[in-house]
Amino acid sequence: MEHITEIITKQDSFFTSQITKSIGFRLGLLKKLRTELISREEEINKALYADFKKPAFESLISETGVVLIELNKVIRNLRKWARPKAVFPAMLNFPSYSKIYKDPLGKVLIIAPWNYPFQLALAPVIGAIAAGNTVVLKPSELASNTASLVQRIISTVFDQSHVAVIEGGVETSQFLLKQRWDFIFFTGSVAVGKIVAKAAAAHLTPVTLELGGKNPCIIDETTDLKLAAKRLVWGKFLNAGQTCIAPDYFLVHSSIKSDFIAEFSKAINATYGEDAQKSPDYPRIINTRNFDRLEKMLVGVDIVYGGKKDRDDVFIGPTLIDSPAMDSEVMKDEIFGPISPVFSYENEADIDRFMTHYEKPLSLYIFSKRKAFIASILEKHSFGGGCINDTLIHFVNDRLPFGGVGNSGMGAYHGKRSFDTFSHHKSITKRYSWPDLPIRYAPYKGKYKLLKSMLKIIG
Ligand code: NAD
Repeated sequence: MEHITEIITKQDSFFTSQITKSIGFRLGLLKKLRTELISREEEINKALYADFKKPAFESLISETGVVLIELNKVIRNLRKWARPKAVFPAMLNFPSYSKIYKDPLGKVLIIAPWNYPFQLALAPVIGAIAAGNTVVLKPSELASNTASLVQRIISTVFDQSHVAVIEGGVETSQFLLKQRWDFIFFTGSVAVGKIVAKAAAAHLTPVTLELGGKNPCIIDETTDLKLAAKRLVWGKFLNAGQTCIAPDYFLVHSSIKSDFIAEFSKAINATYGEDAQKSPDYPRIINTRNFDRLEKMLVGVDIVYGGKKDRDDVFIGPTLIDSPAMDSEVMKDEIFGPISPVFSYENEADIDRFMTHYEKPLSLYIFSKRKAFIASILEKHSFGGGCINDTLIHFVNDRLPFGGVGNSGMGAYHGKRSFDTFSHHKSITKRYSWPDLPIRYAPYKGKYKLLKSMLKIIG
């Protein structure tokens, strides 16, 4: 691990050299990164296909496309975001000038997962560079083709003393976590999120944790089932269900449950054909460990669609399960694969009760035409974010901060929020020598009442 210590030392001196404070410097490199990404589009698609047969269309929509949109947004707005922001003085420090300066935090560590191995590694890197930090990125070892391509891209554009990619598994990650950072940005599981938070606490390092959870999808009897089924199949089986914001389970009004199962099954057939293993548009499970984890969820449950699996091909087809027991394997934790349990409810109280079994989810979806029902669910339940009458697409609006709450994470990013996440907002008040009101200085004798009446006026 000596090379890691060397990189960190280099990044320390690079940051203290003040070079990253220049907005022109940051913009120049972000533009260079954009050129590099555009010229390597084919290579990126190939790496993602090699890792888990991700179709090129899905790579464009959920990996390169998202990163390039983020990059363009940052390049367009960086000067505006980085400018010190003047604010009005308060009555108590009037007259004065107050400004918020956007300071970089310093040395940032970013740890990424395997499921969107390109986008979830590079999107936070863009925010961190834009805000003027140095970065060490540790991509996931499970998507190794993409990880080493990301390494090659970053090393072409950046000097190691500014941005470095360190490939490796758990040991490398743990070694990195022992070092002192100014900020840690982690995307991954709840269990590892806790390890990260603990390691960060040792140095009082602030963290953003982008974690997972069991995401409910509520479908009521007013829904246009045909359209809902199409959107749900897309959102659930994109990336073969290995999406942190994918709907985990469906809560369907009892009066439409059998129609829902029929429409959902039809929509799967229309999307991937009768056998998804033959479809060029259906990815594989990332590795056999995850395959085995998911396979266990199919034991002893009522499969109403799919259930096909092939370990040699790390394939699990789109699957729908009817009302599994709450203590069954599939309902214990986040599924993170192409398996969808469906339950029925009679009334809103059933939904509320169901959701109390689980921690605050990363996302929640509601399919309904009833405004009052939608408003009531939104008001009662705490979750990271979500959609009404669709799935996943809140993620791609860079004006919406993306992040979890409670067990699904802390902090948020995307667009301007990324820049803010990786910046310290330094508040400064500037005064001149005149006037200098004597009331605040001791001796205080006789000033108490005067101050109180002044404060009353201020409100
Ligand atoms: P993971 O937590 O197993 O791994 C994430 C990263 O942490 C990897 O780089 C890995 O090398 C490292 N790591 C693993 N074990 C570690 C340990 N013991 N100590 C230190 N580092 C360790 O997650 P994953 O399997 O790569 O990804 C799936 C999880 O990530 C799911 O729970 C999913 O919901 C979540 N996720 C969340 C988001 C989000 O934006 N909120 C996005 C994608 C995935």
